[in-house]
Amino acid sequence: CGIVGYIGDEEATPVLINALKKLEYRGYDSAGIAVLGTESLIVRKAKGALKFLEQKIATEIIQGSMGIGHTRWATHGEPSDINSHPHTDVSGKIAVVHNGIIENHAKLRSWLEGHGVVFRSQTDTEVVAHMIDFHYNGNLLEAVQETLKRLEGSYALAVICESDPDRIIAVRKDSPLIIGAGDGENLIASDVPAILEYTRDVYYLDDRELAVLYRDRVEFFDEEGNPRNKELVHVEWDV
Ligand code: GLU
Repeated sequence: CGIVGYIGDEEATPVLINALKKLEYRGYDSAGIAVLGTESLIVRKAKGALKFLEQKIATEIIQGSMGIGHTRWATHGEPSDINSHPHTDVSGKIAVVHNGIIENHAKLRSWLEGHGVVFRSQTDTEVVAHMIDFHYNGNLLEAVQETLKRLEGSYALAVICESDPDRIIAVRKDSPLIIGAGDGENLIASDVPAILEYTRDVYYLDDRELAVLYRDRVEFFDEEGNPRNKELVHVEWDV
């Protein structure tokens, strides 16, 4: 199970696939990506090894310079195309990848169903996409922050939204997540080796910390939404 993310000037898809390959050693049963192109969010996912996802997208051109990717180790819902991440809200505008377990997912699911949400997967993760949509009022950061107040359990999350197209939100609690700071590009990964090819400058996200990645900068916030200054660490070691 692993998470990756990219925002910059390059095509996101090859970077995401490449970084996911570096996370393969962590083990997984399915994989997927969501890329934000000039017009809309494109989501592709496949059960099984990364090569099945690669085969699925081999004949199409997925254009877009920001996106998120995931390898899944199923905890809730069998390994399948539908249960693979990214998960989206009903409209398909918001995409979420998640490592960990949302412990109160059943309660949130029935609450959302009570508000008319129709679920597509059996995962605990899908509630996160719908909760963000429920709280979305034109500002993705605020919607994520509101959603986090309702989540119990462990998570490394990366979120993108079609109508907020210049940033990726990443947050972690009891699951690993690091941020790579590049030149005109920034990355997210579950661990450092996944992104060493792109940058050696890394922010280690603390537990319950949130990062907002733009192409040219990264902003950090604590649980209460206060800005945080983070130290950039230069990684000297190789894998
Ligand atoms: N609990 C989530 C699921 O089963 C995420 C699993 C993971 O960490 O890969 O889909």
